Amino acid sequence: MSSKRKITVAYGDGIGPEIMNATLSILEAAGAAIETDVIEIGEKVYLKGISAGIEPRAWDSLRETKVFLKSPITTPQGGGFKSLNVTTRKTLGLYANVRPCKAFAPYIRTHFPKTDLVIIRENEEDLYAGIEHRQTDEVYQCLKLITRPGSEKIVRYAFEYARKYNRKKVTCMTKDNIMKLADGLFHKVFNEVAKEYPDIEADHKIIDIGTALIADRPEMFDVIVTLNLYGDIISDVAAQVTGSVGLGGSSNVGEDVAMFEAIHGSAPDIAGMDIANPSGLLNGAIMMLVHIGQPDVAEKISNAWMKTLEDGIHTGDIFHEGNSKKKVGTQEFAQAVIERLGQKPQNMAPASFAKGGDEGAGDLRLTKREPSKKELIGVDVFIDWKEGQRDPNIIGDRLRQVNADGLKLRLITNRGVKVYPDGMKETFCSDHWRVRFLTADESAITHLQIIEVLKQVMELGFDFIKTEHLYLFNGERGFSLAQGE
Ligand code: NAD
Repeated sequence: MSSKRKITVAYGDGIGPEIMNATLSILEAAGAAIETDVIEIGEKVYLKGISAGIEPRAWDSLRETKVFLKSPITTPQGGGFKSLNVTTRKTLGLYANVRPCKAFAPYIRTHFPKTDLVIIRENEEDLYAGIEHRQTDEVYQCLKLITRPGSEKIVRYAFEYARKYNRKKVTCMTKDNIMKLADGLFHKVFNEVAKEYPDIEADHKIIDIGTALIADRPEMFDVIVTLNLYGDIISDVAAQVTGSVGLGGSSNVGEDVAMFEAIHGSAPDIAGMDIANPSGLLNGAIMMLVHIGQPDVAEKISNAWMKTLEDGIHTGDIFHEGNSKKKVGTQEFAQAVIERLGQKPQNMAPASFAKGGDEGAGDLRLTKREPSKKELIGVDVFIDWKEGQRDPNIIGDRLRQVNADGLKLRLITNRGVKVYPDGMKETFCSDHWRVRFLTADESAITHLQIIEVLKQVMELGFDFIKTEHLYLFNGERGFSLAQGE
């Protein structure tokens, strides 16, 4: 290769510097055509008073190189420090988190030796938008935001990934039997995009049974695509069942920049002892080499690494009498991998990575759509109320007086369950009431009518804490019905 690819590197905290040194020494010995630009992140930067944990110059480096190999960092205890990972993902638009989970049996203990799956997790949306509010004395809210472009981008990424890496099936996991609109959108977009990839099998599982199946029959999965929170949880379940939590690498990919790392943390308990396993970061670096179009070097390293495992040369965390032959430290393990460069594993399948690299946006076009016709037909007004022993008939009978040009109370729910009119006396009521106002024939209304409703609600002595408008989109209801509505 003629020219070297510049990458941004951060040595991180705890075991970070040791495993980065080990990883870079293997990359260099294998002939990776890279040149590193080192930036400072983590504890030292936090303690300088930079709450994001990354020095300002680092953004310029990342903008220039577009590739980030990152060691784990220690997030200082106490308030005021922002998660560096969340900041990096959001600032750089790293919308896809890719985590391969593969068994390396019998060299790494696992009950599921055939596991070889990849989890592709949406990385920017969902409950991780961090929009939370305390609304009443008793009730706290965290907003779950799912967008159509965000869903389409990650689903398309998963199908493109499957095609590129010669995988046969993509399974979508959601909870759309409950969250029919938000999770339902993700599932709907999945079904739409899947039609464009007839060569790849498409499947959907509800997240609860899906997680159970990962824990019990992981070999039935190939690529899994899912929402942010579910992906966070199932990627740890999947890593655990392969028995290789300490060995996994992951990538965070955006349209311009990609970040590669180990899935474990900075392990301060063993920092500086030269006993940490560098394999997680090495596997992250292997994903990076594929991404920047050096798959041959990635294969060479991956094969030498698997041969090292087969030869029983193991760090303490994976050392087991019987499977292991020699217990080694971090740098000695790296040396053993270097000595095996050019060799292939004899029992495990040799590595074979996609050619061509992943850089650039790839084929991630979004479907062009005409905006829907949006029609305002009502409003949900949320009220903080704890009087009258919380009898729904009291609040209901008072709010029945509200009338803004025909916009009137339709029903009241408490935690989503209808309590007025005709509620069940057994239903527990918190201090957080949702009052739905609609016209008799559910025809279009104006914002002024909503303002009039709020004025009358206030004049009746109620504390309204938020509103949600009720819209039709192309005639289709854009809000869920209450339980019992
Ligand atoms: P951890 O992953 O650092 O450690 C958990 C356990 O696994 C420890 O016993 C540790 O010794 C062991 N371990 C981890 N990596 C190992 C390796 N490569 N070789 C051998 N043993 C290894 O998790 P933690 O203790 O919960 O977190 C420690 C710090 O890391 C915290 O400050 C946390 O915020 C941070 N963290 C950072 C990242 C990241 O930067 N991506 C991810 C997770 C945690």
